[in-house]
This record gives sequence, structure tokens and C-alpha cells, in this order.
Amino acid sequence: MGKPVVAVIGRPNVGKSTLFNVIAGDSISIVKDTPGVTRDRIYADCNWLDMNFTLIDTGGIEPESTDIILSQMRQQAQIAIDNADVIIFMTDVRQGLVDADLKVADMLRRSGKTVVLAVNKVDSIQKFGNDVYEFYNMGIGDPMPISAASRLGIGDLLDAVCSHFDKASASQDIQDDRPKIAIIGKPNVGKSSIINKLIGTSRVIVSDIAGTTRDAIDTVIVHNKKEYVFIDTAGIRRKSKIKEELERYSIIRAVTAVERADVSILVIDALEGVSEQDAKIAGIAHDRGKGVIVAVNKWDLVTKDNKTMNEHLSNLKRILSFIPYAEYIFISAVSGQRLYKLFDLIDMVVANHALRIQTGVLNEIISEAVVLQQPPSDKGKRLKIFYSTQAAVKPPTFVVFVNNKELMHFSYVRYLENKIREAFGFRGVPIRFIIRERQ
Ligand code: GDP
Ligand code: GDP
Repeated sequence: MGKPVVAVIGRPNVGKSTLFNVIAGDSISIVKDTPGVTRDRIYADCNWLDMNFTLIDTGGIEPESTDIILSQMRQQAQIAIDNADVIIFMTDVRQGLVDADLKVADMLRRSGKTVVLAVNKVDSIQKFGNDVYEFYNMGIGDPMPISAASRLGIGDLLDAVCSHFDKASASQDIQDDRPKIAIIGKPNVGKSSIINKLIGTSRVIVSDIAGTTRDAIDTVIVHNKKEYVFIDTAGIRRKSKIKEELERYSIIRAVTAVERADVSILVIDALEGVSEQDAKIAGIAHDRGKGVIVAVNKWDLVTKDNKTMNEHLSNLKRILSFIPYAEYIFISAVSGQRLYKLFDLIDMVVANHALRIQTGVLNEIISEAVVLQQPPSDKGKRLKIFYSTQAAVKPPTFVVFVNNKELMHFSYVRYLENKIREAFGFRGVPIRFIIRERQ
């Protein structure tokens, strides 16, 4: 199952950015440039001891006046509740415990989410240690003194965070073979409409899986007697008036939903085409090795002749050229056109994601490929491919043993990938290669 998700929340200036940078180091994956705002992190893939997790920053543009601080904090907390396994609630020992902290603590307590309470700016235990006790009043567990700026107490904090992962992943790891699908895309492309149409018009059964974790907001849709789990669809319905907040939310949602999915359906508005944000979101699915279906929605609004679909297709493929394996489908959530074909595509992509090729057959294909096109050489030395094997599924990962890694050119890997795809398809899923040397 997917990596655990950790969210940091707290009032402005308590030190969230500082902590984020200390934990994430250089591994920050998506930053957003908004004019007039500093480069803004959204999430980072992090690691503590042997634990991998995704850290998300629910913040964004932070308000200055106190009356909107609380509503902003509530919004951040809700995003964290919807998306995270563990929430780090950060407070500031120098500002002390304030009313907004207590209110948000109430909200977190009611959600039943796992919360780790960090009290920041405890730069000296002698000086500030006693002030930390006050934060017990929040009623969300033991306050942990830290100093993000001086990197004090960070190890203990991360130990506490990671100690909750087992529980979270255990509850998700119950044997579950149902396809898991993340519907992703920027706001207003029609994600909720697609789900609602799938729920509403046919013989589908909707049920919310009971549970205390994020599973609670998954939707199960039955099609041809088979169950499909659509992840985190409740989150889609979250609306905000601020464009930047909406964008941030759709990226956070994409990261956390894709993490748990087998296949992602990237929804694009047919009239608008692919935007930069669409490409970023597609990149999330690609980086995480998930299957990708691009659903071009609102197809009912396009004036068409017999060439229109192919024109759209080649345009989309050109812009999304970093996911050449993606499957495309043109749909309308309003008319329902081709909506049920989605299930066939999902079945195919899910099967390909888990497809395992026998070593013998694989090596035959690679040998034929090598005969058809000689491997690259450099300074009189030619690449030799000894042996290949599929080391993993989800995504399919191939290990290729060669005489000299330096000689394996990117374009030759691409050539081998194409040959493997010609032979076995793998439509809709990324393929990974690991090149190993053997003398
Ligand atoms: P955010 O608004 O919650 O993201 O807070 P920042 O990370 O931007 O920090 C706000 C201010 O607090 C900055 O001036 C930081 O340098 C300062 N700060 C952060 N952590 C500490 C700390 O551990 N001790 C002290 N004394 N200052 C800190
Ligand atoms: P989301 O933010 O991605 O979940 O988008 P919504 O499902 O809320 O849809 C945004 C708007 O687009 C709504 O006004 C929908 O009625 C409209 N919409 C969604 N799908 C279609 C479609 O296939 N055709 C048309 N004409 N409108 C659509």
C-alpha cells in the first residue's frame, strides 16, 4: 500500500516552513511559483531511519489579520484530516497557547486523527521547558518541545510520527484485490461529475468503507459484479474561492490519492486542453510508477467532424510526451458518452501494472532486439547485454545486466522499452529499468 502521509499545520510564524525544510532537506518535490509569493512547497518525499513518508504542507498564502487566521487554520486542518495519516500540529512556546490553537485542537480531536503536538522555539530547555506544560491543555497528547531552527528534538518528533505508521498501514493492508483508482486533475475539469454520473445512472452500488483512516472517504462502485474503489472522492468536493488554495489542494489531493492507487485517471477539459498544472499532476502519477489513463472530458462541448478526435489526440500526446504509454479516452460526464468504457480501460491498465513476464521469453525478445539494432559503443568498446529479468511489478521493473553501465545510452534503453512494449503491450503503465554491471 502507499506511503504514509504526514501533514504539518499550525498558525502563521510558528515555524512550519523551517520544520518542513529541516525534515525534507533537498527532497522537495513540487514547488509552486506564484507571483508575489515566495517559492511555495507543496509536498516532499521524506525518509527517517528506514521509514519513507510523504510530507505535505497544507499552508499557502497566510493571512495577516487574526479573524481570518482561524478560518484558514480550520481549512488547513480539514485538508490534513482528509489526506494525512499523521498530523504534526505545531505551536510556538514564545507566543504561548492561543485561542485559535485550542479551537483547532478540538476539531482534530473530534476527527479521531493521529496528532503529534510539537511546541517549537524551545531553543533552551532551561529557559522555556516549563512553558511547554501549558500545551497539555489542548488535550491532544504530550507536547513535544522542539527547536526547528536549532534542530533540537527533531529526531524524537520523527520517532513519534513514525511510531504511528504501523497502525495506519496495517489497517490499509487488509488483503484487498479490488482495483484502486485515483481521479485526478485540476479544479472544474469534471472529476466530481464523472463520479456522480457513475454513481447515479446505472446499476451501481455506492458504499462508504467504514474505518477510521482515509478509507472512510473512498467510494466503492460495482460494475459488472466487480468492485472498484475510487479513492478520496469526498475530497474532490472541497471548494475554495481562492484560486491558489484550490490549486494547492488539488495537488495535495493528487499526491495522496495517487499514492494509494493502482491507476490514475487524469481528467482534462476538452475545451481547455492540457495546462501546465495538468502536466504537473500527470507527473505525480508518472513519478510514483502508477498506471495513467487520460480522460478528455466535456467532449459533448466540442464541435466535431471525423478528424477532430485524432487531432486532439496528437496534440495531447505531444504535450504529455513524458507519459507516452498513457491511454486516452474521450468522455462526457454530462451525456455519459463512453463513461462505462472507463471500466474496461481500468481493468486493462490494472492487469498490465501487475503483469509479470517470464525470464526466458523476456531474454528472447531482448536478444532479437540486440540483433536488429547493435548496442551503442564508445572508444572501441561495445555494450554487451548478458541477461535481463523482471524484478518487480507495480510498476513493471526490469533489471538488465551489462558489461559496462557507462555504455548503456538513454536512447538504447528507450529502444529496449519499445521492443518490450511491442511484444507485451504494457499499455497505460510506466516501465522502469535498472542497469547493473556484471563482468
Ligand atoms: P511558518 O509561518 O509557520 O512557516 O513559520 P516560519 O518557518 O516561516 O518561521 C517563522 C519565524 O520563526 C522565522 O523568523 C523563523 O526563523 C523563526 N523560527 C522558526 N523556528 C524557530 C525556532 O526553533 N526558534 C526560534 N527562536 N525561531 C524560530
Ligand atoms: P471538478 O472540480 O473537477 O470536480 O469539476 P465538477 O465535476 O465540479 O465540474 C465542473 C463544471 O463542469 C460543472 O459545472 C459541471 O457541470 C461541468 N461539467 C463536468 N463534466 C462535464 C461534461 O462532460 N460536459 C459538460 N458540458 N459540462 C461538464
